[in-house]
Amino acid sequence: MLAVKSVWQHYAPTRDVLGLLEVFRRMVNESIRIGMANKVSSLRKLSLFSYNQLAHYDSPSCYKLCAISRAAGILASRKKSLKRGFATRTPYAVRQQLVSCYSFKAKNGGLEIPLSRGKRLSIPLTKHMINSISQPGVEVRSFTLTQNRLCLSIARDVARVECASTVGVDRNLRNLTVGNDEETRPYDLSKTVRIASTTMRIVASLKRDDARIRTGLASKYGMRRTARTGHLLHTTTKTIVALAVQRRQAVVLENIRGIRCLYRKGNGQGRRYRGRMNGWSFGEAQRQIEYKARWRGLPIIHLTRRETRGSSVTCPRCGERLQSDKRLARKLWCGRCRVAMDRDRVAAVNLARRGRVRFARSRPPIVEAQGGAVEAVKGNPTTTVIPGVDAPKLTQPTTS
Ligand SMILES: [Zn+2]
Repeated sequence: MLAVKSVWQHYAPTRDVLGLLEVFRRMVNESIRIGMANKVSSLRKLSLFSYNQLAHYDSPSCYKLCAISRAAGILASRKKSLKRGFATRTPYAVRQQLVSCYSFKAKNGGLEIPLSRGKRLSIPLTKHMINSISQPGVEVRSFTLTQNRLCLSIARDVARVECASTVGVDRNLRNLTVGNDEETRPYDLSKTVRIASTTMRIVASLKRDDARIRTGLASKYGMRRTARTGHLLHTTTKTIVALAVQRRQAVVLENIRGIRCLYRKGNGQGRRYRGRMNGWSFGEAQRQIEYKARWRGLPIIHLTRRETRGSSVTCPRCGERLQSDKRLARKLWCGRCRVAMDRDRVAAVNLARRGRVRFARSRPPIVEAQGGAVEAVKGNPTTTVIPGVDAPKLTQPTTS
């Protein structure tokens, strides 16, 4: 299967490059305008309408095609939004950038791109970039230039890892817990919460009375926060995926769509608690795990909302609903087995099992076929019958 990801680096733009970025942005906007005027959004039709009109722009013709393609993408996503009933504004490319999939070449430790007729520019690549693109089977699909970054989209064909078992990933505010019946392992992420609160405190302490400066400063600290949190997540997800590949375990992810609606004003929660929960970057963790797993050929099982339901309050031993107790911090009590269990570990084990049920059927995942059924089973968290389904499987030796 084809795996795609991107690698990026900083670079120092010359004046020519900056001019080219601006020309590209103008060409994109021109194509958008033409597309809107003629009510077309497909690449083919848009290029018929606008390619000749881009003739007076001073740019290599390969960039014209890419500008049209980019405009077609913007128009297509606008069309999709309109179809779904979202309000849209007139699309317009504000940031300078250059995307191209033609006539570039990586050689002599640099990326050669056409600047103008007969003139080419070589951007030196960092060691990391050279290393990434010279891996066996990797091909560079396209490059993107912004004012300070060079980004390469790379692809390779990977063999699918044949998995013998599954491993569940439970995402929490302060940790990622990964595990299955044999072993669970929490990865501490409490530092992300600290980073978030530090950022909040710094931004709140800025008292300049100019909104533009305040916004600029806040965005600077916001970017810093994203970078620091992202780095922590990257080290964690890298380990998770590497371990799963080594043990040939498919990764099971829960579906926590709608979680942002849980922490809103008027839901009876404190402001600080809401702020913390809404600053939780669970989506980023999922994105990283997904693309890293795909790059290695590791299958990912996405549970449906229905399959996810109750995964952290169901006893993995007997299927009983677990009780929470104020005296036990993040622990749950099973009345039937008479043991207290860590709720994160319980969730990871349950997710791994529920994924394996799907996995054992070895059919393509059933996705969102039960839209109405979700409502029908509301309030009944133990719909996935763990004892009946899982008991025989537990006795089987799982090969690793
Ligand atoms: Zn139990």
